[in-house]
Amino acid sequence: MSNRSIRDGKGKAAYKRKRKRLLARVRDEGLVCHICGGDIDVTLDRRDPMSFTADHIEPLANGGDLVRNEIRPAHLRCNARRGTAADVAIEAWGAS
Ligand SMILES: [Zn+2]
Repeated sequence: MSNRSIRDGKGKAAYKRKRKRLLARVRDEGLVCHICGGDIDVTLDRRDPMSFTADHIEPLANGGDLVRNEIRPAHLRCNARRGTAADVAIEAWGAS
């Protein structure tokens, strides 16, 4: 199954819920960026390099599953630097 078909299918809602739960934990429990260990300000605009992203432990480009895959909080900047362009594209889609 391609990433596109997962995005457009029923996995989308499940992923958005999962991402929202992670965002709430960053806000309420103070989870930090798993890449640099820094605090994440969840009020920042999602285009801000220091804003929250949900980073996939197994990159989607390597066959990671969008819904079942473990996600961890990361800065957009850190995620983009470490991960693939596909991960950032998923973020933009997930936040809309
Ligand atoms: Zn970071």
